[in-house]
Amino acid sequence: MNNKFDFIVIGGGSGGIAAARRASEYGAKCALIENNKLGGTCVNVGCVPKKVMWTASRIGEMLHDAPDYGFSIKINGFNWADIKKSRDEYISRLNGIYDANLSGAGVTSVPGTAAFESQHVVTVNGNKFEAPHILIATGSRPFVPGIPGSELAITSDGFFEMERLPQKVVITGAGYIAAELAGMLHGLGSKVIMVLRKDQLLRGFDSSLTSVLMSEMKRVGVEFRLRTSVTSIKQDPDSKLSLTLTDDASIDSVDEYIIAIGRKPNSDSLNLDAVGVELTSRGHIDTDRFQNTSAEGVYAVGDVTGRAPLTPVAIAAGRRLSDRLFGGKINSYLNYENIPTVVFSHPPIGTVGLGEDAARMKYGDSVNVYSSQFKNMYYQVTERTSPTFLKLITVGEEEKVVGCHIIGDFADEIIQGFSVAVKMGACKRDFDNTVAIHPTAAEEMVTLR
Ligand code: FAD
Ligand code: NDP
Repeated sequence: MNNKFDFIVIGGGSGGIAAARRASEYGAKCALIENNKLGGTCVNVGCVPKKVMWTASRIGEMLHDAPDYGFSIKINGFNWADIKKSRDEYISRLNGIYDANLSGAGVTSVPGTAAFESQHVVTVNGNKFEAPHILIATGSRPFVPGIPGSELAITSDGFFEMERLPQKVVITGAGYIAAELAGMLHGLGSKVIMVLRKDQLLRGFDSSLTSVLMSEMKRVGVEFRLRTSVTSIKQDPDSKLSLTLTDDASIDSVDEYIIAIGRKPNSDSLNLDAVGVELTSRGHIDTDRFQNTSAEGVYAVGDVTGRAPLTPVAIAAGRRLSDRLFGGKINSYLNYENIPTVVFSHPPIGTVGLGEDAARMKYGDSVNVYSSQFKNMYYQVTERTSPTFLKLITVGEEEKVVGCHIIGDFADEIIQGFSVAVKMGACKRDFDNTVAIHPTAAEEMVTLR
């Protein structure tokens, strides 16, 4: 066998690329196996193209506001094809940059699908590759339920292939993707109907944030069908879709039906039985805090582990693993507490730490809550409006901050700085002792009483 490496990485997405490059910096001989485009979900069908579309939608809102700020403008419409072309070109550039960065770092790129032959050997297109350390960073894919006509539906992957703005869209799901796509499509001009099996978006987030989001979405015209599900889909002669719901209701003349009900780990085609890698009941790869699987020399990071499936988490876990295996930092691991996250909804949510309910469950009566709802100064002169809501959750006499939550314009940018404070263990008095920056929305977070 001539394909011997120190480190083999399966999956060229956020986690895999970060781990391979870091290992290579330490002098490890690395191979990275990828069966699709480099960059993985985030670059090709996730964070990056999503943020471009979110920005397009935000620009639409600001153009609407421009006359209120004294500009005389004429909007001649929105051309989906134009932004899709620029977005696709940007992604292609990124694919090339990732390729160049990998070869610049001395990582051998192997195109193809990997499966384990034994604990230290994987096969790709009939060729064997061997290493004492193998990382599984194969990510996840959208889950599609087996209902009649489900082949007529699309997922977030299909959203990025759409050639035109759909006039009428139905979205099933209550998580990040459903909330984000609904906001974007509504902002760009689609009629959006959300079908939720329960009655709340983003369960698990602080419930004040989700109530503000849902009431704002309803106020601007997003329609919600609660406590129901789509049971079948059929295509009408005019190519539109008709959806039947659990309660025998129906939704007709639908241009796109998007299913966004979670993702499945890409763990099923790796021949993991051959190496004894244990999976959780949902098919995620079980790892300890050092990202070790149950098989010695086999590790996993990112979405395939099901732990905080976010790009920076996959990157951080991958880098720390390589620091530990090849950089002599034998205790290096990612602490999964207080991971900040943003939902690019309309308005966006930025959050770190525990929501109020979770904090009360954990800390009982020692929880204190500070909150404020206001209209951002931006909207004082516009006809259009949008709310901002902040919440700070503290614990004990020291008032250690265990949760910091924002919904409103710029929450996506504001939360990163506050997450440093929360991660460092800041108390309410540290927030109070910080001089405000005026006039901003963020200043409210250090003036809460
Ligand atoms: P991936 O990036 O999915 O990479 C896995 C790679 O492995 C893929 O390229 C796949 O082709 C390859 N692969 C799979 N099996 C094999 C095999 N057997 N052999 C070879 N290659 C294989 N996260 C954020 O932090 N912020 C966001 O704004 C955000 N937005 C998102 C929007 C959408 C629509 C989606 C779907 C996700 C979003 N995410 C976001 C989540 C983020 O994309 C993922 O958490 C992240 O990409 C996970 O990285 P990963 O390395 O685990 O997997
Ligand atoms: P999520 O896990 O966020 O949400 C899916 C939700 O859909 C569930 O929480 C559930 O909510 C609902 N659901 C599950 N099954 C069904 C069903 N059979 N019928 C109807 N509803 C159902 O998944 P997403 O697909 O939205 O996103 C996957 C992950 O990708 C996210 O968890 C996030 O980590 C990442 N991501 C991050 C983004 C960001 O950082 N901005 C953006 C997009 C994705 P309920 O139980 O309340 O019904």
